[in-house]
Formats: sequence, C-alpha cells, structure tokens
Amino acid sequence: MRWRAPVTTKDDVPRPRPARERTRRPRAGSQRVTVVLPWDLDPRLAAFPATPADGQLLVLETRAKPAALPFHRQKLALVVSALRHFVAERRAAGFTVEHRVADDYEAGVREFAGWAKPAALHAMAPREYAIDQRFRRLAEELPLVLHDDGGDGGHFLCTRDEFAAWARGRATLQMAHFYPLMRRRFRLLVDRAGKPVGGAWSFDTENRGHARNVDVPEIPWVKPDAITQSAMRFAERVGRWGVLEPFGWPVTRTQALGWLRDFVGNRLAAFGPYEDAIRSDARFLFHSLLSPALNLGLLHPLEVARAAADAYERGAIDLPSAEGFVRQVIGWREFIRGVYWHLMPGLRTSNQLGATRPLPAAFWEPERTELRCLRDALESVRDTGYTHHIERLMIICNYATLAGLDPRPVSHWFWAAFVDAYEWVELPNVVGMGMFGTDAFTTKPYVASAAYIQRMTGVPTTKLGRRTPAVAKEAPCARCAFDPSVRSGANACPFNAMYWDFLAKHRRRLAENPRMRALLSNLDRMSPAERKAIAATAEAHRATLAPLATGWAFDDDAG
Ligand SMILES: Cc1cc2nc3c(=O)[nH]c(=O)nc-3n(C[C@H](O)[C@H](O)[C@H](O)COP(=O)(O)OP(=O)(O)OC[C@H]3O[C@@H](n4cnc5c(N)ncnc54)[C@H](O)[C@@H]3O)c2cc1C
Repeated sequence: MRWRAPVTTKDDVPRPRPARERTRRPRAGSQRVTVVLPWDLDPRLAAFPATPADGQLLVLETRAKPAALPFHRQKLALVVSALRHFVAERRAAGFTVEHRVADDYEAGVREFAGWAKPAALHAMAPREYAIDQRFRRLAEELPLVLHDDGGDGGHFLCTRDEFAAWARGRATLQMAHFYPLMRRRFRLLVDRAGKPVGGAWSFDTENRGHARNVDVPEIPWVKPDAITQSAMRFAERVGRWGVLEPFGWPVTRTQALGWLRDFVGNRLAAFGPYEDAIRSDARFLFHSLLSPALNLGLLHPLEVARAAADAYERGAIDLPSAEGFVRQVIGWREFIRGVYWHLMPGLRTSNQLGATRPLPAAFWEPERTELRCLRDALESVRDTGYTHHIERLMIICNYATLAGLDPRPVSHWFWAAFVDAYEWVELPNVVGMGMFGTDAFTTKPYVASAAYIQRMTGVPTTKLGRRTPAVAKEAPCARCAFDPSVRSGANACPFNAMYWDFLAKHRRRLAENPRMRALLSNLDRMSPAERKAIAATAEAHRATLAPLATGWAFDDDAG
C-alpha cells in the first residue's frame, strides 16, 4: 500500500447530530419513508424515493450486528464508513435523512415508526434470512412494503421467485445451466441469435496459468478521509480481530467506480489467464477486489459485467478474460445468492460428510500453522480481510474439508473474517461449494493434494518420492516445513496425507460420481501398508489442531 494514515483510539460511536441538522418530524401519517440497511447503498433501488419531495430516508446502524461475530476490523470500518458517506451524500442531494443506531434493525424500524408514524414505509427485502423473516413479520403490523432485491429496481439481476422457478424440480442445481440464461437475458457476450460469442459459454479451461514472473499492477487503495477515520476509530473500539491499518477500501460510489475503471483498464486483460493462480508476494494478482463495493450496493452487478463485456467489444481485452469475469459476476454471484434462498434455513446445518472437528486456532492466529500455503492465506485474511477465490476455495476450504472441520464454525469464521462477507454469499460458498456439506449444487468435493497447490503457486509439480526442484523462494512450498512430494511420515505435506485419507474415508459416497473414479482407482492401487501410514500421518496432523479459547459467541440471527 502506498500510504498510511494515523488512527487514534478515541471512541467514536455516532453522536446525535446538532438540532439544526436533525430530521424534522414529519407530519403524522404524511410521509413515505425508505428504510436503508447497510447493504442498500444504491439510490436507484426500487424502495428509494426519486426526489426529496417523494419521501425521506431512515438509515439504520445496529448494535447487535457488530456484537454478533468477531468481525474483521476492516469490515466494521468499511460498512460504517460507507453507510455514513451515503448519509452525507443523500443529505447533500437534498433528502431528509434520519440516521439512527438501534439495538437491531427491527427495533430501529419500530422505534422510528412509533415516533414519526409515517403513512408508508418502504424497504428492500433484507438480504439475510433472519432479518428478512423479521421484516416480513413487521410488514404484517406496520405499513411496510418490501421490494424484491432482484429484477428491475433490485440489486440482483434475478428475482427470488425467478430463481425458485428455475430451481424447482432439478435434482442438482448447476451454475453451468443457469449462467447461459443470464447471458442471454442481459445480452452479454452473445450474438444476435443469442449464441455465445466465441462459440462457447465458458472458457474456463483457458484460465489456468500460473503467475510466476508476471508484473502485477498496484491496487489504487483509497486514502481514508475524516468519515472513514472516524469509522476506523469505531472499528478499533468495537472490533475484536483483524489488522485495521492500512485501510484502503472504496467507501463511496465514486471511489468504487474509480476501482472498476482501474480494474478494467489495468488488470482485466490478465484476469482470465491468472484467475486461478496464487502468489504469496502478489496477493491480489489480477482480481477486481470489487466484491466489498458490490455487496454494499455501491456498484450494480450489471454495470460491472457490462464494463467487462464492453472492454472486449472495443478490442481492449481477449474473450477468455471478459467471459471469465462476466461468469463470476452474473453467473456465480447470482447463482450463489439464488441457492442461498433456495436452501435456507437448512443450509446453516448441512453437513452431509458428518465432519465434527472444531475450528483450529490457526484460523484466528495464522502463525500457529507450519503449513506455509495455509499460513500465507490466513495471514492475508488477518491483514486485509481478503484473499482471492482460489485461496478461499483450494487452500482454506480444501484444508478445512480434508481436516474434517465442522462446516458451521468454518462458515462463521468466513462470515467474520472477510470484508465482503454476508451470510447470503459466504454460507453457500463455504458449506456447499467449499466443504461439500450439501450436494444440492456441487456434484463432488473441491479437494486437492499438494500437487495442485504446487502447480497453482507456480512450482513445477514433483513426482512423488523425488525431491522438490529448486523453485522461486517466495513459493509457499519452498518455504514450508513439509515436503509436497511425500505422502506419509513426519515431513509429509498434510494436504497429501489428508487428501488420500479423505478419499479412503468417503470412498463409498465418492464412488457414485464418475469423475472420482480415476482418483479412487489410484487409491485402490496403494498397498495396505501405505494406506495405513497415510491414515496415521493424517490423524497425527489432525491431532495437532486445537481450537482457540476465545469465548466468542456467534449469533447468526443478529442484526
Ligand atoms: C469459501 C468461499 C467463501 C466465499 N465468501 C465470499 C463472501 O463472503 N463474499 C463474497 O462476495 N464472495 C465470497 N466468495 C466468492 C469469491 O471468492 C469472492 O467473491 C471473490 O474472491 C471476491 O474477490 P474479487 O472481488 O477480487 O473477485 P474477482 O475474482 O474479481 O471476481 C469478480 C466478482 O465475481 C463475484 N464472484 C465470483 N465468484 C463468486 C462466488 N463463488 N460467489 C459469489 N460471488 C462471486 C464477486 O462479486 C467478485 O467480486 C467466496 C468463495 C469461497 C470459495
């Protein structure tokens, strides 16, 4: 990062605004008021009044949410700063804005409604299951209209009902079947006949380069202004975990649009080829880092996807990069959010592999693991609240699955630890995609041994039993206490031992999937002695994974 701003620890909870700034109490029964939750920061959403004469805003912060999980300090600062910037911007645009801190969102609406007695309240349907349920009950008591958060006037492209209709009757939900519908509907990278440009819907197989010796552009981190600094003081006071500084996430729409432009201009061209690569010395590689802004509503997914498609159409980037990025935004993101509503509330407790081990201490204190690739990823989360997709999936979740961790605490950790995490997006990704806690939308577990990690971190893969060749010193396998070419014994990479042990343990379930057959026949070729040694090595590693005694409680329903 290019800058550093001092932050005092002075307490900074929102204080009452001076009397002249306070919202005038609307005439009883005369006002239309829009309830704004922290992820609704987009005045183009259907619940918002078009002009100041059409209604006022009630912007809510909650005490319950920051207390519910040990959120990363950068996440707390980001959400609070973005919300307060939004309040300032709406006021500057002439809107009457009541900004309140309530015990929880429901209490905030009730207190306000009791005070102002508005004729009508409007809100976007809350994006989290528990808050959505409470707002629906509230709508039976108060004149509250809930607008779908998808479709026209919504943040997402698909309405909840449209996704439910698509999902109905399908045994397994597959993103690959959903994605072309979105491409066609929004006319992104399709020809006049609705066929995909380039002749294929996905160019995923071209996105497998390692990023060794590639120059990586800098991220244009944003210097905190006074509002962000006050939010950082709040995060310092309230937060229990995560490094706060340097903080540089965009907190306004203008800043987020600047990041989008910077990404399209400087990194998108290389996004496709290096999408799955991992480099410890260049953590962000060519990723957009737009998820925090998208998830707060500072950017709309369609404008983000269109920016990528436009760059392809004017010849600035190749198709695999444009398609790869569009697939993430209108494919995976929409699909994951649809799956969340489709599978809730059961998704929270899905655990089809029966994994029960608690979260190891290293997730909170990365220095407690000697496994270098895992430690690198966990350090990145601790220091920035971010890692890119492949580190989330193929390092952290792969490890969690192979180690037999209970998906629920892992999901809680993801929710707390990432700057872009909300239940609607982390839960399906962690429990479904990452840990195979349900087979509702993944047909096989995303698990891999050290060979995959070596390859994606730019190390030429070694044959088992041979010494690792000389590799770039920054590659995690080159700095690790374990040997990626060994499957059992004290120096064996735990990813190897736990991988083969996982396949052996879940053999019967995995054998149902034809894509697992080749791997299982490799397992079958191992001698009983080798399998025994692998099981012992895996168990010895798992036995080292003690949880951290934090005393932290997790309340999934808070907010
Ligand atoms: C275990 C796990 C947990 C995750 N938790 C979150 C989370 O809490 N919040 C979150 O926004 N994303 C989550 N993701 C999805 C994805 O990893 C992040 O969206 C992405 O890494 C964010 O970084 P980026 O903006 O640089 O993404 P890029 O690589 O630049 O991708 C562009 C955009 O595509 C979208 N996207 C891509 N994949 C997914 C996906 N699987 N689900 C939803 N959106 C996707 C995001 O909006 C992202 O900003 C998770 C993935 C996994 C495997």
